Amino acid sequence: METSPAAERLTSRFVAGSTLEREVAVCQKLNAAGYWATLDHLGESVTSLAEAEQSRDAYLAALDQIAQLNLEATVSVKLTQLGLDFSDAACRSNMECLVSRAKSIGRMVEVDMESSAYVDRTLTVVSDLHSRYAAVRAVVQAYLYRSEGDIHNLCKLSIPVRLCKGAYREGSDVAFARKKDVDDNYARLMFQLFDRGTYPAIATHDERILERAIGYIRERRITADRFEFQMLYGVRRDVQRRLVSEGYRLRLYVPYGDAWYPYFMRRLAERPANVLFLARNLLKS
Ligand SMILES: Cc1cc2nc3c(=O)[nH]c(=O)nc-3n(C[C@H](O)[C@H](O)[C@H](O)COP(=O)(O)OP(=O)(O)OC[C@H]3O[C@@H](n4cnc5c(N)ncnc54)[C@H](O)[C@@H]3O)c2cc1C
Repeated sequence: METSPAAERLTSRFVAGSTLEREVAVCQKLNAAGYWATLDHLGESVTSLAEAEQSRDAYLAALDQIAQLNLEATVSVKLTQLGLDFSDAACRSNMECLVSRAKSIGRMVEVDMESSAYVDRTLTVVSDLHSRYAAVRAVVQAYLYRSEGDIHNLCKLSIPVRLCKGAYREGSDVAFARKKDVDDNYARLMFQLFDRGTYPAIATHDERILERAIGYIRERRITADRFEFQMLYGVRRDVQRRLVSEGYRLRLYVPYGDAWYPYFMRRLAERPANVLFLARNLLKS
């Protein structure tokens, strides 16, 4: 399924394609239209260290293309993809390779946050790399109770943060279950990032939160070069266009590669209407 051309047609709304070439073409087009990008080579939870090295090499190739074509782009990486489940040391060494290359070309590595079991290990790796290279961005999920403390520590260390709501199934022992509580916490953490954070990235498609963000920055005269919005490729393109036309920086998270299944399923699960969209395309093809 993951490698079939028919599937590629269905997933193309959310996934740039299966190859780096396709990804780069999409990013060039986005850059030309005023969007920034972050490249995500799909493939979380690798099954061996050899696969983790392949992932690292795929990202090195992506960074080479970013440098060669001067793309306005970062890369987004999951630590499980770089071998965290097998060896902490190997994962760190893979990450170090990517972050040092990113720094040498004036770009950064954004470290996606996975399920709650990985948060401590991920933030430790990010802090270590930040202290040596300063070319990394951490991700914090507003649905976790612990996130206020994490934001506090990351701000103290001047580590840039991407704030998202959180995409994994978590228990009520670690995460808010009600959407309203997640949204309220998101707004609270976002204001803290605007007040004390280093170049925060506000990653959401939620129009009510975006309105509150814009209200807050206007009130406090925070200029548009001190933060960025981030959204997923293919999601709420109307809102994406509006933000860019209003002069805000917007970076799109653009996934590519064969291993699209878990990513695609998370996007479908977030919004039942996407299943209808998928069904319509299935019928068409
Ligand atoms: C740039 C970026 C990076 C991310 N990185 C991570 C990460 O590292 N770790 C992590 O756990 N999560 C990550 N996420 C996912 C995030 O946690 C949410 O699951 C996702 O963004 C949906 O939340 P929302 O803020 O858009 O709000 P929601 O309340 O879920 O959605 C608000 C509105 O946005 C629209 N919308 C949202 N999702 C979709 C969709 N899939 N299809 C169509 N419309 C949709 C709908 O109109 C919806 O009403 C990231 C999200 C973004 C934008």
